[in-house]
Amino acid sequence: MILLNPGPVNLSERVRQALLSPDLCHREPEFAALQSAIRRKVTAVYGLDPARWITAMLAGSGTAAVEAMLASLVPRDGRLLILDNGVYSDRMARIAEIHGIAAERIGHPWGAALDLERLRARLAAAPAVSHVAVVHHETTTGRLNDLAPIARICTAHGARLLVDAVSSFGAEAIDLEGWGVEACALSSNKCLHGIPGLALVVMRRESPTAEPPRSLYLDLGSYCRLQEQGGTPFTPAVQACYALDAALDELAGEGGWQARQARYRALIDAVRAGLVELGVRPLLDARETSCVLHAFHLPEGWNYESLHDALKAEGFVIYAGQGRLAPTIFRVSTMGAITAADMRRFLHAMVRIVGRRT
Ligand SMILES: *Cc1c(COP(=O)(O)O)cnc(C)c1O
Repeated sequence: MILLNPGPVNLSERVRQALLSPDLCHREPEFAALQSAIRRKVTAVYGLDPARWITAMLAGSGTAAVEAMLASLVPRDGRLLILDNGVYSDRMARIAEIHGIAAERIGHPWGAALDLERLRARLAAAPAVSHVAVVHHETTTGRLNDLAPIARICTAHGARLLVDAVSSFGAEAIDLEGWGVEACALSSNKCLHGIPGLALVVMRRESPTAEPPRSLYLDLGSYCRLQEQGGTPFTPAVQACYALDAALDELAGEGGWQARQARYRALIDAVRAGLVELGVRPLLDARETSCVLHAFHLPEGWNYESLHDALKAEGFVIYAGQGRLAPTIFRVSTMGAITAADMRRFLHAMVRIVGRRT
């Protein structure tokens, strides 16, 4: 089965084999070495200086990483501003509410470009905003939010920028140091090609954490402290660590995030061109969209379930829209060990199924 959903992904043979590595107690030095290697390799994906940046790793899905980042890095007396243009920024607002973080949002229609003038105006006004949160790649629509100008505005107003990079880390350009970002959240099972189960946050070493912590399990302060000494506060997802370590080696061996971006871009360009030729309309302009996922309007006469079921019978899993977009769109992701040949077979299946060459 070829998974065209944005994670969990099709595994490479190397990553799958890594899952069969020896049983391991997480209090043994072998695990400490594995954990240190992963944290070092994740920090290195974008060439960050390990003297200035640290990666914390916990067991959980991507949401755990985002929740840990917001709950830990916004101080008790901080104020959070959320740039909202999709499902995942809406989720950040719910996280803030649950943890009692003083928060507000600048709302946009789903899929819309973020309004930098409203951001600038709000940061210049009272009460002061200590942190801004944004989703880099809004997987809801495929929109890639442009982080560099957002980070510049935040820096100019003394606000720290927290980024949900769960569906972009490893495949899109992310210059945390150069742009002046405070931290980003990611997970093992999207563009990094591991299995689900690891939530990671890359942050500045001097980033202050909320005191007292808002959560026991999600307190990044304790993960950083213990993991720097080879320990970890709770039972880690050991097999997911084996898989992610192999996946990070594979990423580096293939030429890093730049090579992955080029590969995803070639796959999605081919899919998009083939679908457009079939009369299927993309939701967003290609220039606004990530290399990781594009959303398309359902072809005329098709609902999602019937298209999904027909494609699944041919060996492909597409992904539904969320919320308001659910009745009208489907999504195709390029993540995982899939090839140009897989995408050609997908397009052939679409031609057979939708069968309306124009
Ligand atoms: C997948 C994803 C998440 C996390 O979702 P989980 O189901 O918890 O893994 C968060 N943000 C974005 C942008 C995502 O694409």
